[in-house]
Amino acid sequence: MITDGHVHTPYCPHGSSDSFKAYVEQALKQGYQTITFTEHAPLPESFHDPVPDKDSGMKRSLMESYIRDIQEIKKEYQEDIDILLGLEVDYIEGYQQQTSRFLSDYGDVLDDSILSLHFLKGPSGRYHCIDFSESAFQKVVEDFGSVDKVYQGYFSTLEKSIQADLGPYKPTRIGHMTLIRKFHHLFPSPAGWDESIPELLKLIKQKNYQLDYNGAGYYKPACKESYPPHPIATQAYQAGIPLVYGSDAHTSSAIGQGLDQIDQTLITD
Ligand SMILES: [Zn+2]
Ligand SMILES: [Zn+2]
Repeated sequence: MITDGHVHTPYCPHGSSDSFKAYVEQALKQGYQTITFTEHAPLPESFHDPVPDKDSGMKRSLMESYIRDIQEIKKEYQEDIDILLGLEVDYIEGYQQQTSRFLSDYGDVLDDSILSLHFLKGPSGRYHCIDFSESAFQKVVEDFGSVDKVYQGYFSTLEKSIQADLGPYKPTRIGHMTLIRKFHHLFPSPAGWDESIPELLKLIKQKNYQLDYNGAGYYKPACKESYPPHPIATQAYQAGIPLVYGSDAHTSSAIGQGLDQIDQTLITD
């Protein structure tokens, strides 16, 4: 039983134009039983996307078309694979209301979604995209003052994202919870960086949320591990938190990435 709960689509403005069909055919080749398409949800309208091409989220005007396309492909392949309609929704500090409003507009058609943290508000008040590039990460470090402070900011915001009231359609799976480690071979994680993890896992368990057990990090040259890494995935598993594998594919050929490297005995089916 293979479930992939984190897959991007042709609607991703920084991904590829590979068709839904190409993703699904690749999923069938890999023997998947279930796949959730989780495109980056449109960002709040008043939020200034900090990445140069302003392409972190899909266009809001394409939401209807996105939904329709997935509903169609779902029907087309209903005999072969379960296709779920989802989104990867950003938690952005200070934009909870707009995010809740967006979710209340579309939540009723979503089958399964992810809540992720890509944007951090720095002490300067500026927002940063933490996984965009090494040089952008360097700027985050400069704004916060040290890698240590970046990690503190990241994990305290992650906690807020878990606690946040985003209404009845809040996604219940936490995306790549250690994304802050994407460049850890260049910016070593400070000693004790994972001290807040047990508390966070406790919270995730209390909320009955799931964890995205994301294989994409193995393919990032300065990361080379899953999000979260194996020891944390094991703790989560022992705490009774369901782990759902995510390829985080942005091309059809990346379907299944990391599946051989993660510990499949921890996966919930
Ligand atoms: Zn993406
Ligand atoms: Zn993501």
